Amino acid sequence: MLRQIGARPRWASGIFLCLSLALSPHASAQRTQLKPGWNRFSPQQDIELGKRAAGDAAKQLPLCNAPRVDAYLTELGTRLAQKLPTGGVQYPFEFHCVNDKAINAFALPGGYVFVNRGAIEAADTEAQLAGVMAHELSHVALRHGTNQATKAILAQTGLGIFGAVFGDTTGGALLTTLGSFTAGGVLLRYSRTAESQADVMGTQVLYDSGYDPRALAQFFEKLEAETKGKNPPEFFSDHPNPEHRVERVDEEIDKLGGVRPGAKRDSSEFEVIKREVLALPVVKKMAPGAAGVTAPTGPPAPPSGNFANYQGNSYTLRYPNNWKIHLDSSGSGVSFAPEGGIVNDGSGHSALAYGLIVNVGQAQGDPNDWSALQDATRQVIQELQKANPNMKITREGEHLRLNDRPGLSTYLSNDSPSGGQETDWVVTVLRPEGIVYFVCVAPQSAYSNYDKAFSTLLDSVRFAH
Ligand SMILES: [Zn+2]
Repeated sequence: MLRQIGARPRWASGIFLCLSLALSPHASAQRTQLKPGWNRFSPQQDIELGKRAAGDAAKQLPLCNAPRVDAYLTELGTRLAQKLPTGGVQYPFEFHCVNDKAINAFALPGGYVFVNRGAIEAADTEAQLAGVMAHELSHVALRHGTNQATKAILAQTGLGIFGAVFGDTTGGALLTTLGSFTAGGVLLRYSRTAESQADVMGTQVLYDSGYDPRALAQFFEKLEAETKGKNPPEFFSDHPNPEHRVERVDEEIDKLGGVRPGAKRDSSEFEVIKREVLALPVVKKMAPGAAGVTAPTGPPAPPSGNFANYQGNSYTLRYPNNWKIHLDSSGSGVSFAPEGGIVNDGSGHSALAYGLIVNVGQAQGDPNDWSALQDATRQVIQELQKANPNMKITREGEHLRLNDRPGLSTYLSNDSPSGGQETDWVVTVLRPEGIVYFVCVAPQSAYSNYDKAFSTLLDSVRFAH
């Protein structure tokens, strides 16, 4: 498997702190006003994108197939959504129960909400479940998915493709251009700032719907306490825990005027539904985790001999035209993979099994200095090995030229997420912006079918200067 080197933006918590400092004084008795951030997608595109991704998710995820549970989630979710500030946009809210014991829930742009049975089972009260759903609905209203995608696309691509992607008004063409970029998690991996915003708006929605607004934070606190020292619940990998979560929610409750007497905590209906959910048959997970991950259904089609152009910030290249572009949620990397080339790594995250990743690491040095290139390459390999503990070097130190610049070639073996071993061919070049590395990935048994496509792609690389 080839997990991307983690590149969580370091400034996220800093911005959050500034935000709460700026908001806390003189703001008492007035609720926090939240608005969607910068977004190059239209709300209509949110709906189109979400609808397609939800269609994929419904095909790939084991649904509960329990009409009463879905009806209950729809009734509760619709009631909450009525209190959601959407700026006048009519989202087609849909609510589905997923037969997955992992404590998680996710909402796709446009209002397609999936709640795992694990989240229903873990909730002590209806108010807690409502809290999780209000949090998810807030991601929809604040348009965090496409806001994230906007940032990732701008960080990744030149303005040329930016215009090409956004100039098109149909979500279909957009998705074709980007591939199933929900798989890379762009739509569903939120920043801590986004999480905090969803908590604050979720608290407002709970309050306005007559629920005890403390339930949202209580549920997250409970999850945290129950999993101390153990594997954190899946929820926190999609929704990273913001700092001072409970304090921030309490602060918002104060601004709202405190918990209302008689605020709703539970319902007898919730207890009935929870019992029904607990009694559902347990479904063995085939491809657990994020929606939009292509379920492994045999090896991908071989790479096409026809190539398409890709324009990055500092380079262009050509890739087989039956592959799709996937943007890393951090915005720092881009992958090219065939349909079915990205599979689940078993821990709920997608991993590249077939295709190529391009990324830039921090490094300085004269691009023509072989020893500087060697040092920087060693660091790249070590970082890759940190994320992929079974990755081993099989051949290293071979010189080559990439767009007439000195490059180093390193071969590694690693566990393939599709089973067996894979070959990773890493090519590194020093550039003013850092060390650019290309990682070509295919299972060992299929590598010879990909060798030529990888070489053609690398031969086509043209750096800006
Ligand atoms: Zn969240």
